Amino acid sequence: MTTILDGKKLRDKILENLKLKLEKYKKKPNLTVILIGNDEASRIYVKNKQITAEKIGINSTVIRYPETITENELTEEIHTLNMDENVHAILVQLPLPKHISKEKIIGMISPQKDVDGFTPYNFGKLFSGEKPFVYPCTPKGILLLLDEYNIKLDGKHAVIVGRSNIVGKPLMQMLLNRNATVTICHSHTKKLSEITKTADILISAAGENIIKEKMIKPGCVVVDVGIFKDSTGRTRGDVDFENVSKIASYISPVPGGVGPMTIASLMLNTVELFEKKNHSD
Ligand code: NAP
Repeated sequence: MTTILDGKKLRDKILENLKLKLEKYKKKPNLTVILIGNDEASRIYVKNKQITAEKIGINSTVIRYPETITENELTEEIHTLNMDENVHAILVQLPLPKHISKEKIIGMISPQKDVDGFTPYNFGKLFSGEKPFVYPCTPKGILLLLDEYNIKLDGKHAVIVGRSNIVGKPLMQMLLNRNATVTICHSHTKKLSEITKTADILISAAGENIIKEKMIKPGCVVVDVGIFKDSTGRTRGDVDFENVSKIASYISPVPGGVGPMTIASLMLNTVELFEKKNHSD
């Protein structure tokens, strides 16, 4: 029998606790999101973040710019937000238009307000084994989900499919911090299924439906980060849920698994940055 890693249920619990906590504070945290262009998916993500934030007592500001904004204009905006005492958390919604350097813009955000944990400062802290101001949202959400179900990481072989800066790489380090043995795979990995078959915990963040039953060791914990629309418009994950769930011990669904946990982590991070700022004042 497989157990579903229910991200929605845990998200609701986390948000309820945050709401109760924030009711006790005189001041509200502010999360400011910069949204550039008209990308439909980005617009929906930002709207969901805003609705969730407002529900639990976080002030959420969305600053919209057209695709034509220059790198300099965006840099100036971030500088202004960095200096603004009333802004506690800054998120630049990705992807950015091609003429703007993602690295330059992310690198401009003050590490104390870097709610995604993506700045070189926070990334460097994470990889040097020190504490960043906050941990990146999706990996943080995955670990919270595994912890909720008392899934032990120490000494386990965790295999990650995907090496992006937002999921695979920080997750690798966070799993190492928890004493897992980590293998990270990507599109050049040879004999992927031979590696995935050795996983006690398999986390897939490829954005393609590639994880099949024959690639899984019976009893494996399977976390599906991928989310995309297939050719019929249906929302899919990386994992063949129907068949893999027959042999996995735990499995996260798509939707309803990692996605809600990413939002919950964003809210947790906003509140953490707010509290750190207030302690340091
Ligand atoms: P990304 O930057 O495109 O990275 C995808 C990674 O998967 C790359 O490292 C790529 O390898 C690897 N990959 C792709 N196809 C593969 C294959 N057939 N075999 C082995 N490795 C393969 O994507 P991302 O931003 O990390 O996101 C990945 C997926 O997770 C997407 O579906 C995204 O929507 C989803 N996501 C969900 C959440 C959430 O909250 N649920 C959050 C973030 C991302 P190379 O490096 O060699 O190209």
